[in-house]
Amino acid sequence: SKAKLFDEKTDVKITFKDVAGLEGAKEEVQEIVEFLRNPQKYTDLGGKIPKGALLVGPPGTGKTLLAKAVAGEAQVPFFSISGSDFVEMFVGVGASRVRDLFKQAKEKSPAIIFIDEIDAVGRARGKNNMSGSNDERENTLNQLLTEMDGFGSNQHVIVLAATNRADVLDKALMRAGRFDRQIYVDLPDVREREQIFQVHLKPLKKAEELDVEFLAKQTPGFSGADIANVCNEAALIAARKGKTAVDKQDFLDAVDRIVGGLEKKNKIIT
Ligand code: ATP
Repeated sequence: SKAKLFDEKTDVKITFKDVAGLEGAKEEVQEIVEFLRNPQKYTDLGGKIPKGALLVGPPGTGKTLLAKAVAGEAQVPFFSISGSDFVEMFVGVGASRVRDLFKQAKEKSPAIIFIDEIDAVGRARGKNNMSGSNDERENTLNQLLTEMDGFGSNQHVIVLAATNRADVLDKALMRAGRFDRQIYVDLPDVREREQIFQVHLKPLKKAEELDVEFLAKQTPGFSGADIANVCNEAALIAARKGKTAVDKQDFLDAVDRIVGGLEKKNKIIT
């Protein structure tokens, strides 16, 4: 099958209200939203808009969600690709994908480009390269750097990239005029977990008023993705038991199940 070029969404419905917590990160990307809504206002005054920002944080904390919300808030197209998609490509393909991606985004600007797992392609060059097999990855990375240098801030394309390994990234990516801003997206604290539960409880048919404060306290260390999982799992457990609504016990069983899954995953890693 043909490898996916990249994904393009023109009518993103996700907005900041879908992103619970992350107040600091939302504040930081607000400026990008303002710019995309009205680029002229900034460039007329000679202002330089950032070309890129790096969203840094653990898996499942809402980096992709936040990037989509920027596009949704600004009502601009969202072009996305995952760094890991590049890894499997044949010689020369990665670089030409990057070229195509930027070309399309510029044609439809203002626009957002989102690169998930940028570390897969953006690891520091010239390391761990005993076999020379990383040449293709380096070509792709070089093309990405070239593209970011090649467009001016008058081209109205902003590149957001996500990683949970900012430490391994090639420093060239972080240079001025590239991803010169880092926005931290951390695991939620207990109050933020409450807010995330509110978002994901909304579509469920609940048997009783659920104590979200209690649920938040039962889920230390959970990411937003884990909490979304708990809510979905609770609904599945209730259905399996033939219930017509989800109750507190279903949530407790779902939390247990997710905790079990997380422990198992950690055991395999360590
Ligand atoms: P990864 O690093 O694994 O790609 P990510 O940080 O990009 O993860 P997302 O893909 O944005 O995480 O999150 C996965 C799902 O978890 C979201 O689609 C959403 O349902 C839920 N989620 C995560 N964080 C939040 C949040 N802050 N508010 C509401 N939902 C969230």
